[in-house]
Amino acid sequence: DEKSEESVSEMVSDVITLLKTQANLYNIDLYLDVQDEVVIYCDRSQLKQVFINLIKNAIEEMTAGGEILTTIKKTVDTCVISIVDQGPGIPKHLIHKLKEPFFTTKKNGTGLGLMISNQIIENHHGFLKIESEKNVGSTFSIHLPI
Ligand code: ADP
Ligand code: MG
Repeated sequence: DEKSEESVSEMVSDVITLLKTQANLYNIDLYLDVQDEVVIYCDRSQLKQVFINLIKNAIEEMTAGGEILTTIKKTVDTCVISIVDQGPGIPKHLIHKLKEPFFTTKKNGTGLGLMISNQIIENHHGFLKIESEKNVGSTFSIHLPI
């Protein structure tokens, strides 16, 4: 694999720039809150693919428009990138299925995005946490060791 020291805020803002046009078409605003500047040793293109998958999923759920907020912060030894949407949320009994291959609720979905994202994050010795509240939205948090 191909790893180097990369700025997390740079990778995330690249992805937000890439997805902004598509989001705006659906009346969705993408926001970035960089609470901490973090550099991690990672595969840049793989991690950007994770951010694309998660933000795209959020866009696809927010059919009524709204805001998607991505926050970057760090603790002593961990970087946490959270993507908070205002979508319909995920029923509790389905949350554990999301990382399984081919689970999709979309007409033309592959059900592979979250499985691949989870795999990439685990290859970086991190984990993906999924939280959701019905009619409020969902939060996908990527935890990566620094
Ligand atoms: P796909 O996008 O092709 O359906 P994913 O693996 O990316 O595959 O996502 C699997 C499923 O997880 C989606 O079909 C959807 O039901 C659910 N999901 C993913 N992200 C969200 C989200 N932000 N809000 C609600 N449901 C979500
Ligand atoms: Mg997807």
